Amino acid sequence: MMIGAGILKGMAVTGRNFIGSYFEKDRLTTVQYPEERDVLPENSRNFPFLVYDTNDPEAGLRCVACKICEKECPPQCIYIEKSADKKPDYMGKPQFYPATFDIDISVCMSCQICVEVCPFEAIKMDKVYELSRRERFDALLMRRTDLAKSNSYYHSIHPLEAEQVDATLAAAAAKKKPAPTPAPPASG
Ligand code: SF4
Ligand code: SF4
Repeated sequence: MMIGAGILKGMAVTGRNFIGSYFEKDRLTTVQYPEERDVLPENSRNFPFLVYDTNDPEAGLRCVACKICEKECPPQCIYIEKSADKKPDYMGKPQFYPATFDIDISVCMSCQICVEVCPFEAIKMDKVYELSRRERFDALLMRRTDLAKSNSYYHSIHPLEAEQVDATLAAAAAKKKPAPTPAPPASG
């Protein structure tokens, strides 16, 4: 092969994209932020949030304060305090809930381990990225009320994943339902 052929080939691709960007929007990788925003792909992720069902961020919170995510988080940026009382979970079973659930997102490294280890599909990764703050200390400490977001929100940011999660939870709920009592034998 001719010496420098690779460079010429690379320059040809650059040139094609440069000229093409004037005609085809797909080739223009620059986005005029903040007036324009890219649609983020399904799998993009940033920091975790807590999912709640129904319209009630308190009663509908899926988290049962088992603290597995707190133990497994590599930089230890989750802090949970379990409630003293219990409330019914999505299957009606009484469960503890987090009286306190904080995540310090100035420490979080977006590894998603908390999501992987949660047995209750209660914590998922968000896509928000406009989170910079001027304050240095606890401005990036997200409290339970900041973290709680609805299942509809989860569907809007990760539609395919959220659908699978719904199906998993529905299957688990169906398995737990008591079997219907057999009808008494007909007399006569
Ligand atoms: S994404 Fe990783 S670092 Fe962030 S809270 Fe979850 S486990 Fe911790
Ligand atoms: S988010 Fe999941 S793993 Fe973490 S405490 Fe709640 S239920 Fe347990």
